This record gives sequence, structure tokens and C-alpha cells, in this order.
Amino acid sequence: MFLEATFMPFMRNMMLFWSISGIFAFLDYFIAKLGLITKYKRQGKFIINSGGINWKKYRRTAFVTFLNQIFVSFPISVFFYYLMYQNTAIPSWSVVFLQILGLLFVEEFLFYHFHLFLHIPWFYKNVHMIHHSWRAPVACRALYAHPFEHMLANVIPVFMAGYLVGLKWEYTEYWIAFATINTLLAHSGYNILSREHDDHHRYVNVNYGTMRLFDWFYGTRTEDYLKKQKAKRKNVPQQVIYVMKGNRMTKEIIKSKFALRRTKSN
Ligand SMILES: [Zn+2]
Ligand SMILES: [Zn+2]
Repeated sequence: MFLEATFMPFMRNMMLFWSISGIFAFLDYFIAKLGLITKYKRQGKFIINSGGINWKKYRRTAFVTFLNQIFVSFPISVFFYYLMYQNTAIPSWSVVFLQILGLLFVEEFLFYHFHLFLHIPWFYKNVHMIHHSWRAPVACRALYAHPFEHMLANVIPVFMAGYLVGLKWEYTEYWIAFATINTLLAHSGYNILSREHDDHHRYVNVNYGTMRLFDWFYGTRTEDYLKKQKAKRKNVPQQVIYVMKGNRMTKEIIKSKFALRRTKSN
């Protein structure tokens, strides 16, 4: 009973994770061979400029992901099994609907805030930077992270959401499958599948959430960041100076924080 309720769902999730990762690895290989990276990858130009896909790093990524699954995901799933195995009642459709909304909300809330916590400079430098070590991610690096991060940001929010909404233990497997597919697509790097999280890897301090609900609430979406950057650029003081070039006087605009700000009097 114990093995059937914990080990078997874990193994099925492993099969799901690695078959989708495998499909994306093949896709990555073929688009690299056919020279289509810039066409299909969101950060295609960056990948090409930095020497193409690094396959050695790709394999290392897969190995670390595998270790995280065995030594972090599985023990935590066993822990939550003991908290949730008594949830055996089959819920009505209306309860299932409310549970789905609850799962999405709680997971988003926990993931956003735990992820933001990992961006505190000390944690970023010593823990989260491992996950950010590729600016343009690939699918199987979804779980490429320090084990502490994997526990805090990847595994606990998903199981905790199930626990808090009182999810039937058998249904947890479907919820984990949904979260698994979601994170694999988010890290795949393909234009149509991974906009938001790919931007997180590119700009680092945007799109901390998965559905961007709290990013919208706190103003941390890519568009908010780019708007702020543009405003900052505009705010750099400019000064017009005149220089002699040959025997002609030319006008130049100097952007510098030392430039005199234009006021009504000047
Ligand atoms: Zn991050
Ligand atoms: Zn990521």
C-alpha cells in the first residue's frame, strides 16, 4: 500500500518528466543542427553569440536534476503522504472546481514569495545562482538547482497547496503532473511556450511567479521593468555642448549624471 501510494506515483512522474525533457533535448539537437535556433528559441541570438548549446553543461544539468528528484522530491512526497493519506473522500464537482482554484492560488503565492526570498543578495549568490547559471534555459534544467532551493521553491509549494486545499491523495499525482509539465514548458526556451520565465532568466529581476498574478500585483512583470529602465534612461541629465570640428562648430549632446540639468533659467 505504502509503495503503491508513494513510490509508484513518483516513478510515473519521473517517466513524465524525462520523456518530455527527452523530446525537448531532441528538438534542441535538431534545431541546432538545422541552424534554426534563432527562429524558434526566445533567446536564439544570445545562444548563437555565446557559442551555441553547450551539451556538456546540458548533461550535467540533467544529472543534478535527477539527484534532486531522488534525494529531495521523493522524501518530501513521502512526508506529505503521511499528512494527506487520510483524505480519502471523493469530492463533488463543485468542490473539485474550488480546489483547483485554491491549488493555483496557493502554489502561486508560495512560489512567488519563496522565489523572491531566493533573490535576496546572499541567497542569490550562494543558492539561487545555480539555477540562473544559464541565461537561456532548456527543459531539463527546470529542476537544476541547489537542493535547498529545490525543496523550498519547487517541491514544497506544490505539495503544500494540495495539503491546504484538502486534496485527495490520489489526485495529488495529477496536480504534480500539471506542475511538472508547466515548469518544463516554462524552461524549454521556445518562443511560443516560455515567454515569462524565459524573461526571468534573461533579466533576472522580473516575472518571479508562474502565472504572473503577484508580478502584476507588485509591479515585477517584464513590461514594468522595461518601463522603469526607459524612465531611468530618460532621467539621465543631458547637456548640449558645442565643439569645433575642423572649421565648423558642431552640436553634441552629452548624457551624464554630471551634466547640468536643464532648468527654466538655463
Ligand atoms: Zn530566480
Ligand atoms: Zn527557472
